[in-house]
Amino acid sequence: MSLLKTAQPLFAEEVLVELEVGELRIPVQRQSRKTVALHVLRDGSFEVRAPNRLPIGVIRSFVHSRRDWLQERLDSLEAGEGALALQYHDGAVHHFLGEPYKLKLMAATRWFASVGDGEIRLATNKLDELSVCKALQKFYLREAEVRLPERVVFWHRRLFNRDLPELKFRAMRSRWGSCASHGGIMLNISLLRAPLPAIDYVVVHELCHLQHFDHSPAFHALVGSVLPDWKARAELLTVPCGF
Ligand SMILES: [Zn+2]
Repeated sequence: MSLLKTAQPLFAEEVLVELEVGELRIPVQRQSRKTVALHVLRDGSFEVRAPNRLPIGVIRSFVHSRRDWLQERLDSLEAGEGALALQYHDGAVHHFLGEPYKLKLMAATRWFASVGDGEIRLATNKLDELSVCKALQKFYLREAEVRLPERVVFWHRRLFNRDLPELKFRAMRSRWGSCASHGGIMLNISLLRAPLPAIDYVVVHELCHLQHFDHSPAFHALVGSVLPDWKARAELLTVPCGF
């Protein structure tokens, strides 16, 4: 079970598809049209365009019939196609805990990173795009390791009375987090771009999969039991998911 990125705020209507990599929520755009169609948006996310009065069940069946195609699109996203237009030059803007910061680059033999006063100061030996991107990932990974374990411990205590799950951090292009069937939790280091309420939502979502390995009403009830405003929090996940 994993939480895939929704590049846009959650729509009133959406179709949930279970893929190999996890769950995908696809917003439904009602239009005055005659047919249903799946669209890939510029940022790589999906959207279903459907006639105004078509029952949601029909739309759901259509989307499910295109599961292989969706899986292929996601795999190619994972392979780098349609990479996000993030920039890695001096002055480029990157988000940290929901706030925008300007990259301040310095050439140095040793990697260094700090954040404050509107800047993410980053020192790395080469200042080409790839080197800066890698150095920045290292910064988000360090911050994830420093800041996220306490969020996991906090919410895990609120939810359960059992041993903490194994926790790992990774850069992922299309998922905010995932929970393996053996109970290990993986969180995307890009979460550190999002505001804390949204980070907590992803943490709670993955933790609740320790109890319910699906997206059943019982799962959502458990999420809602500690985060009644989880939908509003999910809408704050508008930062880029990959690098
Ligand atoms: Zn999930």
